[in-house]
Amino acid sequence: MVYEQSTSLDLLLCKRCGGRCCQGSPGIWLDPQRFFDLFFAGKHLTVEQLTERLPELGLVMWGMSGIPLPAPLSLNSGCGFHTVDGCSLTVAERPCQCLALIPNQKTLDQPQGCQCQTPAESSREVGNQRWQDYWLTV
Ligand code: SF4
Ligand code: SF4
Repeated sequence: MVYEQSTSLDLLLCKRCGGRCCQGSPGIWLDPQRFFDLFFAGKHLTVEQLTERLPELGLVMWGMSGIPLPAPLSLNSGCGFHTVDGCSLTVAERPCQCLALIPNQKTLDQPQGCQCQTPAESSREVGNQRWQDYWLTV
């Protein structure tokens, strides 16, 4: 299992925080199968096909690490899905990394920055590897 939303999600703490994590770099979908199940009814696409379809979802293809993977639009203010009311995606749709992030009260005890932790199994490296493996299959 790539993410455990029920054990890490703390909506009350996150509501009070207002989403400092979302004001930085957006989270990513670590699990290609989950991503395609959510947004393409399980239908798998190639890099080129997915790149064409991402704008309609408000997403972009990231490729800084050399591995293309879909991610929310990144603005100066942070993630493109972040609003004054929090994330505009439903909880079920949110990136695996966002759901896996472990909220920490210490974040609210300091004036800025984020003390919340991404578990090692939900790291960007894990996501890169999973997308790299996925692209080899299509
Ligand atoms: S995970 Fe941390 S930084 Fe993100 S909204 Fe929750 S408390 Fe704030
Ligand atoms: S997708 Fe939602 S939870 Fe994740 S970084 Fe963007 S606004 Fe925050």
